[in-house]
Amino acid sequence: MELPFAESYKIKMVERIYRSTRKQREDWIKQASYNLFNLKSEQVYIDLLTDSGTGAMSQNQWAAIMTGDESYAGSSSYYHLKDAIRTILGFEYFLPTHQGRAAENVLFSVLVKADNVVPGNSHFDTTKGHIEYRKASAVDCTIDEAFDTDSLHPFKGNIDLEKLEAVYTAHPVGQIPMVIVTLTCNTSGGQPVSMQNLRDVYALSQKYGIKVVFDSARFAENAWFIQQREDEYRNKTIKEIVAEMFSYADAMTMSSKKDGIVNIGGFIAVKEEALYKQASVFNIMFEGFNTYGGMAGRDMNALAVGLDEVTTDDYLENRIQQVAYLGNLLIANNIPVQKPIGGHAVFVDAKKFLGHVPKEEYVAQTLAIELYLESGVRGVEVGTLLADRDPLTRENRYPKLEMLRLAIPRRTYTNNHMDVVAVALKNIFDRRELINHGYRIKKEAPIMRHFSVELEHADDTNQD
Ligand SMILES: *Cc1c(COP(=O)(O)O)cnc(C)c1O
Repeated sequence: MELPFAESYKIKMVERIYRSTRKQREDWIKQASYNLFNLKSEQVYIDLLTDSGTGAMSQNQWAAIMTGDESYAGSSSYYHLKDAIRTILGFEYFLPTHQGRAAENVLFSVLVKADNVVPGNSHFDTTKGHIEYRKASAVDCTIDEAFDTDSLHPFKGNIDLEKLEAVYTAHPVGQIPMVIVTLTCNTSGGQPVSMQNLRDVYALSQKYGIKVVFDSARFAENAWFIQQREDEYRNKTIKEIVAEMFSYADAMTMSSKKDGIVNIGGFIAVKEEALYKQASVFNIMFEGFNTYGGMAGRDMNALAVGLDEVTTDDYLENRIQQVAYLGNLLIANNIPVQKPIGGHAVFVDAKKFLGHVPKEEYVAQTLAIELYLESGVRGVEVGTLLADRDPLTRENRYPKLEMLRLAIPRRTYTNNHMDVVAVALKNIFDRRELINHGYRIKKEAPIMRHFSVELEHADDTNQD
């Protein structure tokens, strides 16, 4: 008999988590105005709010923390990280920042001007925020298959080259500072971009003289899918695949809280010295001197080790296997999810799950609240609350997909935890016909409302 799969690590340190009763959770979520961001972490049993900064570091990362060099200028930790970025990702120049959005802020301060157009594959929310804040616009060129949760396209993060070329020909080149390719594409469900697509996007962009920037938060997970799904990469190592991926980029931004497997940090890396020098000015202004940016020396050390670990084949097999494990449990129970299962999260199709809840009552948020009440599991809405209002009309924007995202922290939970999540969702699925109403907004902020929004039951006949 073939031996079953098991994790290639054992546990050296544990952190207590707490179960609660349904009554407690009813009180807590009401006090939190039905916004899961307002819950205290002790009120959550299994926390799948995000995979950002929530992973477990290895003993080698913790050892590297102890040898961090906190010199203001020229620390050995800076040089460790510089070496890792050069050898693993292939960039000569880099700037540390305190997290991914800070990398965007610094790089876009150089590149993005008012009225610019920035095409990409479903830009991440902070990326779009930093573009729109500069009065430029983000154009989504993701392939259409990404918006059909039942399509089994192996690379739903791909850019549609015709849509991209249409943007390139519709505007003067000077108005398009770059194309941003997000690896993997979070907004479409942690879906990968193929090597072929990266190569084609680069060739097309070179033809028009437009820079290619990778938003690289989950680059290693993307490389794993290339190895599994693109024939010619079957026998290549992850490090070889990663090196080729980044050969098709002029610059990158990174949220190290994802595939850096650290709790905080980010960076920009570029190939061209001139761009590095321009970005340095903003880095010093917003983040810190070039050899630490927003990071402590110890954190740069841990990140250098994290970049090496995340690009090993066995780490990624463990990682993706666990996400697929949860996804397959849900599929076995007929729960509608984005397929194929992505790299860092399982995305439940809330419109298909809760067909009776009107779209004006925040369907995915309703499902997220139900899941919390059922089990103490915290997921996150990727739907109408997140999509926010149109900046001009102030009307709600209803996105094509209304999702409950279950993001899995790296090396943190066991498959027993995944079993709990799956049973909780099955219980809700079995009684879904009884859920007819969602929530309405009591208070919201003018931008990025999902973090602070206050909600109440939409059904007036409800006891509260
Ligand atoms: C998380 C993330 C960011 C922003 O990074 P932070 O570290 O949260 O500031 C940008 N792009 C993508 C794709 C991300 O996942």
